[in-house]
Amino acid sequence: MTSTTRAVCPHCGWPDDAEPFQVVSRHGTAAGRTEWTRCGCGSLQVRVVDGGGTRIVSRSRPAVA
Ligand SMILES: [Zn+2]
Repeated sequence: MTSTTRAVCPHCGWPDDAEPFQVVSRHGTAAGRTEWTRCGCGSLQVRVVDGGGTRIVSRSRPAVA
């Protein structure tokens, strides 16, 4: 499988198409599902997973540890 766009976390470089560091919650939608995930750097992401794959629709700044 190839991906035309390979996005990575702008904060730590974690690949968006890699296994999420931590899945916070999952919600089923009509088109697939929405996942709230936390990156290794603490950034909260909203991923939409559907037939076309996974994409990040929202991303927060890293949490202050
Ligand atoms: Zn990150």
